[in-house]
Amino acid sequence: MSNLMSNYSPLDVTFASGSGCWLTDTSGKKYFDALSGVGVVNLGHCHPKITESIIEQSQKLLHTSNWYLIEHQEELAARLCNLADMDKVFFSNSGAEANEAAIKIARLFARQKAIDLPVILTAKESFHGRTMATLSATGTSKVQAGFSPLMSEFIHVDFDDIEAIEQYSDNRNIVAVMLEPIQGEAGVIIPKQNYLNEVKAICEKNDWLLILDEVQSGMGRTGKLFAHQHNGLTPDVLCLAKGLGNGVPIGACLAKGRASDMLIAGTHGSTFGGNPLVCKVALSVLDVFEEEAILNNVIEMGNYIEDQLKKNLEGCSEVIQIRVKGLMARMNY
Ligand code: PLP
Repeated sequence: MSNLMSNYSPLDVTFASGSGCWLTDTSGKKYFDALSGVGVVNLGHCHPKITESIIEQSQKLLHTSNWYLIEHQEELAARLCNLADMDKVFFSNSGAEANEAAIKIARLFARQKAIDLPVILTAKESFHGRTMATLSATGTSKVQAGFSPLMSEFIHVDFDDIEAIEQYSDNRNIVAVMLEPIQGEAGVIIPKQNYLNEVKAICEKNDWLLILDEVQSGMGRTGKLFAHQHNGLTPDVLCLAKGLGNGVPIGACLAKGRASDMLIAGTHGSTFGGNPLVCKVALSVLDVFEEEAILNNVIEMGNYIEDQLKKNLEGCSEVIQIRVKGLMARMNY
């Protein structure tokens, strides 16, 4: 009998080592890893530069707490803000926690606007995490089953349907729209090219925050560092995790303009969030993106995979749709 809780149902395989795209299990069998830890190990397993920064930092200092200034935190925040055209960052340990921070920012934004019952529009079939707030924001009943009462302040609208959002324009309680630019867990659902731009325009018109959950679509997965950069826009809040640490647990909630001033001393925090180790590693992740022109490779490999899938599966009656954006890829059959 296992002493682990039964919330996962893992396949009967244990990996002992990894290198690049390859994993080796405890019996020595090799596997090509197309899952990359669910979009986490974007630079491959045990990238030498990442390993080096883990060793270097772990020999110096692992943790002190956010009661003090933390080496590498400010530098990482500055680099992320520069890359994403944002102003400020809160560091968390996971994607759900980055989204929690975003939801709290939206609540404080509502207070400022004297809105007592603030509502956030999110999409049906979306996935935002497993904490109580983020599973309430999530648009699938499978994730929510058994956990009622949910937080009621989310309205789920059809994804990639601009009218579904526009119809709430007169609703004074809406404070934000929270979306994944490409829905990951729903099965790599890619909206129409202009969808995000239209959502952004509605948000601006109504003074709503646009919160983009790029926990899965960010950090190079789609061929741009952040998927919304395909649309040439900037959200008010941007949530990252997964590939930001290439395997070490770090998340980030970035905010711009008025959204960046909401969290003040005492309103939010995390014991581990943004500790010296994870910040150092995330800086190395950004270095590798630049030094090895990773985004070019994502586009090249994504095009190759799409071409090969289409060429080899064309006419195959079981394949209904192939959806690819960079290295986010999914087939329906
Ligand atoms: N948001 C999106 C879009 C995700 O895909 C995920 C995880 O799959 C999360 C949030 C939750 O991230 P975490 O599991 O790190 O809490």
